[in-house]
Amino acid sequence: MTQDRYDIIVIGGGPAGSSAALRAAKGGARVLLLEKQRMPRPKLCGGWVSQRAIELLDVSLPEGLTTNRFARTSLVFRDVSQHYAPTEPLGIFVDRAQFDNFLYEQALAAGADGRVESVQRIQRDGTDYLVTCNHGSHRAQAVILCAGSNSSLITHLRSADRPDQSAIAVEQTIPVQYAGRWNLAPGDAWLGFGTVSHGFDWALHHGDRLLVGVGAKRSKVGNIREVFAQIWENWQLPKEPFAPEGHPIPLGGHKRVLARGRLLSAGDAAGMVDPFNGEGIAGAIRSGQLAADSLILDSTADAARVYTAACERELLPELRSARRVADLFHGLPDRLIRAFCSDPRLAEDYHDVLRQRMTYAAFLRRLIKRRLFGQTGVVKSNTSADHAS
Ligand SMILES: Cc1cc2nc3c(=O)[nH]c(=O)nc-3n(C[C@H](O)[C@H](O)[C@H](O)COP(=O)(O)OP(=O)(O)OC[C@H]3O[C@@H](n4cnc5c(N)ncnc54)[C@H](O)[C@@H]3O)c2cc1C
Repeated sequence: MTQDRYDIIVIGGGPAGSSAALRAAKGGARVLLLEKQRMPRPKLCGGWVSQRAIELLDVSLPEGLTTNRFARTSLVFRDVSQHYAPTEPLGIFVDRAQFDNFLYEQALAAGADGRVESVQRIQRDGTDYLVTCNHGSHRAQAVILCAGSNSSLITHLRSADRPDQSAIAVEQTIPVQYAGRWNLAPGDAWLGFGTVSHGFDWALHHGDRLLVGVGAKRSKVGNIREVFAQIWENWQLPKEPFAPEGHPIPLGGHKRVLARGRLLSAGDAAGMVDPFNGEGIAGAIRSGQLAADSLILDSTADAARVYTAACERELLPELRSARRVADLFHGLPDRLIRAFCSDPRLAEDYHDVLRQRMTYAAFLRRLIKRRLFGQTGVVKSNTSADHAS
């Protein structure tokens, strides 16, 4: 049995783990990055990397990783729809396997030691952590758990998410020849509301791929595969091949224990996903970086406290507001989602949220003002207090 001693062991080589390992290695820590799959590994995803995510990265993305710039959104609710072509970038689309592999390689280039190993257990051993894998064990002063939303390792820190704290999504890649069904050109996103309770369905066209899928809150959706089969039929796609893959998505904004002692969680493992639109890459990158910073800045004391405070400052308030928006939307779909899909000013405001020009809290206020109290005559202004300068 092998046993090395590191400053930090990072578990999981997705955006959270690679961002954490990169930041920690750059900070001078001796880092081991454990990923159970050989990179590049497949990852179920829409492939949207927001502008915020791009700007958060500690490295520049090579042009070649972009399959398309984000060009246009179509928002659809039953009989109403609107198309929105942002004048400023909302981000890019990528092939997730390639994107994650790039970040992983950057972490190794910065000095992290990378191994393909599946972690089975994390134990406290004196002041160290003992991480047991399928091929031996490793020792470190601290662990950052970034094993995603599907790993039982999280129970070393907290109980697993309840069905009302997570969503389930299924997705399938289909030939681009069907893009015309949604009137999609490369770089376009089509989002449909109202077909599934507490969720939405989508069609995304980027590069040479067309991704179709649906996601919804687990406690509300029943059998997501059956829901998708119905949507598939409505879209009049050929019966075969029908082979969607599924994956859970944690809904951010719920109370979760993020860390204890020097065992910290980040990314999906910490529930850092926008509960309204399912964006998780930005939250994964930032929480991974904050976890590494907390361990490096606080090498002796309670890093859990430092990290939780950093997340509270930077990430959690927005996730809570996003959850309020999601609850309100899905609670009053006919009124609010219809408005969202038909009122261009609301859609524009929401795109400002995506660009971080407006907070979810401000968006929520506008939504309530305009739609619940009927103030439909509000003129949007970029100098409004609701918009960040
Ligand atoms: C259908 C779908 C579409 C999505 N679309 C988007 C989108 O377009 N844009 C967006 O921003 N977000 C999207 N998301 C969310 C996004 O994919 C996640 O939030 C993001 O991947 C979280 O990154 P992570 O590093 O925390 O976890 P992951 O990317 O899941 O990485 C976790 C890693 O840990 C590894 N691992 C697990 N267990 C172990 C173990 N025991 N030992 C070692 N390694 C282990 C896994 O192999 C994996 O590589 C989508 C999610 C789904 C399900």
